[in-house]
Amino acid sequence: MTNFKQIAIDGPAGAGKSSVAKKLAEKLKYIYVDTGAMYRALTYKALKKGVSVTDTKKLIELAKTTLIDFQIDDSNVQRVICDGEDVTEAIRRPEVSDAVSVVAAIPEVRESLVIKQRALAKSNNIIMDGRDIGTIVLPDANFKFFLIASLEERAKRRLEEFKSKGYKVTLKGVIDDITKRDKLDSERETSPLRPAEDALIIDTSDLNITQVVNHILNVVNNGGS
Ligand code: C5P
Repeated sequence: MTNFKQIAIDGPAGAGKSSVAKKLAEKLKYIYVDTGAMYRALTYKALKKGVSVTDTKKLIELAKTTLIDFQIDDSNVQRVICDGEDVTEAIRRPEVSDAVSVVAAIPEVRESLVIKQRALAKSNNIIMDGRDIGTIVLPDANFKFFLIASLEERAKRRLEEFKSKGYKVTLKGVIDDITKRDKLDSERETSPLRPAEDALIIDTSDLNITQVVNHILNVVNNGGS
């Protein structure tokens, strides 16, 4: 048990988890941990080293030996550092998105990353987002939220994000990526994407980030759902 507060935010790709979690962390002065970034960093490292996403043995070894860290830069932006390299932008590339769910389905890879995630939650008030935070990583979290949105809305949001970074992607490409990842993430045997029984489900399709943040703050400040 820990005396630090824990807020878990789970949901499928593009439901608004990270934008909402970042804002909440700012308002509550909690530390934000983007667990998707950890799976992405590992996948990026594997691709860079030429390790195939089907080489389970090598990926398990990489997960054990890779150092993944979060740092805040001068502009107050959280950077993802992998073995000393700043991979914040690189891990968002489409080829990483395409491979990450296969890497994340390996139980031993998850075991290694979950140890790191729980360690972060031991010494900080934390907002953690991912797929299995409320169910597996922080089952005793003080608050659990599960964000959902229509596929169309989620794809539109992702497309905007990619475009703003200068990536050439189409709406169809984004829909395919999200659909494929959600299927892999929901159907895997270990820690599948699903809401914890005690999670509050929020449909963000017709809400902007501020509305979702305010809704969650209301729940947190009133002590329960
Ligand atoms: O959150 P994001 O879309 O960046 O996550 C990338 C991928 O990492 C997900 O599609 C999923 O395969 C994996 N992931 C996971 N468990 C988490 C967080 C992310 O399996 N807690």
